[in-house]
Amino acid sequence: MITIQNYINGQFLDSGSKKTLENINPSQGKVFSTIPDSDSTDVEQAIHAANNAFLDWSLLSFEKRFDYLLAIAHMIEARMDNFVQAESMDNGKPTWLAKQADIPRAISNLKFFAAAQMNFPSESHHTPGQGLNYTLRKPLGVVGCISPWNLPLYLFTWKIAPALAAGNTVVAKPSEVTPYTAYLLTKVCAEIGLPAGVLNVVHGLGSTVGASIVASPKVKAIAFTGGTSTGRYINGECAKTFKKVSLELGGKNPNIIFNDCNFDEMLATTIRSSFTNQGQICLCGSRIFVQKGIYEQFKNAFVSKVRELKVGDPRTEVNLGSIVSEVHMEKILNYIDLAKKEGGSILIGGNRLSIEGECKDGFFIQPTVIEGLSHLCQVNQEEIFGPVVTLIPFDTEEDAIEMANSTPYGLACTIWTDTIQRAHRVAEKIDSGIVWVNSWMVRDLRTPFGGMKESGVGREGGFEAMRFFTETKNVFIKY
Ligand code: NDP
Repeated sequence: MITIQNYINGQFLDSGSKKTLENINPSQGKVFSTIPDSDSTDVEQAIHAANNAFLDWSLLSFEKRFDYLLAIAHMIEARMDNFVQAESMDNGKPTWLAKQADIPRAISNLKFFAAAQMNFPSESHHTPGQGLNYTLRKPLGVVGCISPWNLPLYLFTWKIAPALAAGNTVVAKPSEVTPYTAYLLTKVCAEIGLPAGVLNVVHGLGSTVGASIVASPKVKAIAFTGGTSTGRYINGECAKTFKKVSLELGGKNPNIIFNDCNFDEMLATTIRSSFTNQGQICLCGSRIFVQKGIYEQFKNAFVSKVRELKVGDPRTEVNLGSIVSEVHMEKILNYIDLAKKEGGSILIGGNRLSIEGECKDGFFIQPTVIEGLSHLCQVNQEEIFGPVVTLIPFDTEEDAIEMANSTPYGLACTIWTDTIQRAHRVAEKIDSGIVWVNSWMVRDLRTPFGGMKESGVGREGGFEAMRFFTETKNVFIKY
């Protein structure tokens, strides 16, 4: 049994109350570690440590901060296999995916923001005949970073790397469902000698640890990635203490496929955009709109490709591993039931899957494709966040845009067409923070990332993140 501990002021600690929570390997349905069931006292201790560490960290030279972040990145790289196994065991994702995507991207986040802080420019504005303005961007102080379970270390570092790079000290809470790789990262921080209190990680429930970080008047900003309803609550709480807040929330992303697309390329990518990480990526395309000229061809080809997907023990060569938890599996299965009640036909999948051997108690769901639902029904309006997609035929470009924009969400969209004018027209009209044309999930860390409508507030990525984690001050000097 692994014991995960808090990392506060450079020390590994149990929760003050000594209470713990069980952490489950979802592919085996078995407890494999305990984590501290921390409360507001532990959070206060972490905030105090971060406050004490702030001045020195904020005054450190760019080069020193660069060295620290790079040292963390390099040590994760050196322990790649250890991090990969941990991420897969904690989340249920295939090890190849953790090796190909999660852990390399966590390393890139640290390297990218180590470099970004060296290149983050300030502006000056000459006011003719009067004087010169220059803009200072200063770190905020103690900031809170709260991250979800779907891409645990990837999204944890997406928050803490820019926060630390910009000169803030951090109190972070990973998801209670997947705390393991954040714990391994704190081990790395201790080993490379990151000054005590610069990064503090408090494990436990969102409703206690997360809520205490959000409520504290000493925390100057919250960077949150997670569900829309949690984001709504956090936004309201942050208003009470006038915190800066960045929210990366849920999605119900449209994948719009026109008759004139490159069919084979579209098909291969649509399999990935539907089912990578068991469909548990906020950027997965869950509503597939297909123009009527190729609807039947697409449906047959897609379903036969889905039939080939292997689901099973994430340590083996499977396409899909397990769902992250039993609760989440039940939620997904309930949506599949709802789809049937709403008049949908299940073209393939639709059930829990039982796997033989060590994974017999794991939480597996067949990749599922549904057709025959209105774009306005509940299943097509609410985020399912699992290996479930719906197919919806359309006639014209205008119809596709109207249906794609009909949900409260606006995170990401994929457009498949070989007509450049159409690609531009549709990209401009879709309400989403990110649009991919003839591709999916190609990420350049310099680009702005975030959602419209109920998919989020603010943008992160590149200098957007550096701006979020700094306070802007303009200074005017009279000539
Ligand atoms: P949740 O909103 O349930 O949780 C996210 C984090 O917030 C967890 O660490 C959670 O802790 C914590 N939390 C929960 N309640 C509170 C609270 N009252 N105050 C402070 N913190 C709290 O999301 P999930 O973990 O279920 O993640 C899935 C969601 O994340 C999906 O909706 C997905 O779309 C979204 N997401 C968005 C992305 C984006 O970039 N837009 C990227 C990835 C995911 P605990 O786990 O302990 O409850």
